[in-house]
Amino acid sequence: VVTGRFAPSPTGPLHLGNLRTALVAWLCARAAGGRFLVRVEDLDPVASRPEHEAGQLADLGALGLAWDGGIVRQSDRRAAHDAAVAQLEAQGLLYPCYCTRREVQAASQAPHGELPEGAYPGTCRSLTPADRREREATGRRPSWRLRAGGRSVTFVDRVHGETTGVVDDLVVRRTDGVPAYNLAVVVDDAWQGVTQVVRGDDLLLTTPRQLLLAELLHVQSPSEYVHVPLVLGPDGRRLAKRDGAVTLADQMARGRTAAEVLALLGSSLGLCSEDEHVTAALLAGRFRVSVLDTVPWTVPPGWV
Ligand code: GLU
Repeated sequence: VVTGRFAPSPTGPLHLGNLRTALVAWLCARAAGGRFLVRVEDLDPVASRPEHEAGQLADLGALGLAWDGGIVRQSDRRAAHDAAVAQLEAQGLLYPCYCTRREVQAASQAPHGELPEGAYPGTCRSLTPADRREREATGRRPSWRLRAGGRSVTFVDRVHGETTGVVDDLVVRRTDGVPAYNLAVVVDDAWQGVTQVVRGDDLLLTTPRQLLLAELLHVQSPSEYVHVPLVLGPDGRRLAKRDGAVTLADQMARGRTAAEVLALLGSSLGLCSEDEHVTAALLAGRFRVSVLDTVPWTVPPGWV
């Protein structure tokens, strides 16, 4: 059975782009007769807030995007994430990295063979025990990186088609000890039995990393990926708070109903007109993955 999910980070209110991705995730799962799960990605203890989680879940409810079972919070999954890190460590696949964010940025600007721009070039990959002691002595705490070996991974995305990425030595545990995003996603998607991943296409090229991690952890990876294009504001830039009324609460403060916002999102997918009275279930009856394409959606004038 198809099991889809929406996995927001509770670091702020969902904007129209996030809500559209949530709708697509729900439609993909429901149109396939599948289950739909919601996972709260609250790993970052500083940026994650319970009030944002509550607001995001309320928005999904208001749009009629009902989910199955309880909410899974990644902060409750720490033991499983730690076990996965330990499993990689036991296979000799991890090494400590003492680079600061700024050092990584500087190093990743230079070209490094096969690796994509912004990839970690492996600065700390071959430190000797003495090198490590020297860095520890300066008080630096390491993050832990995967020896990915520049492996190339190809998968088929339902929107973007065949996609290949070269995997760099990604972080699996952050300097502050928090499990890294990619590790937690892989562990939790497998544990929740997720078969269908729908998310923003800014994450398209992180998928090869997650597929490689799943392989190294010997866990099942999702079989279907749907990376949804970003949403642009009227100025043609990625939709952001500066664009104005970008959240459901903003829209409601302007006198619009959740059903009207749902119709806007449905119309952006060609499933209805903006002024039609629709429900999520009605849209699911009209939805096919082929309505999605790689062109970003620009919020129409008058909405933000
Ligand atoms: N939590 C991530 C975000 O809000 C999405 C992760 C995912 O869908 O894999 O951008």
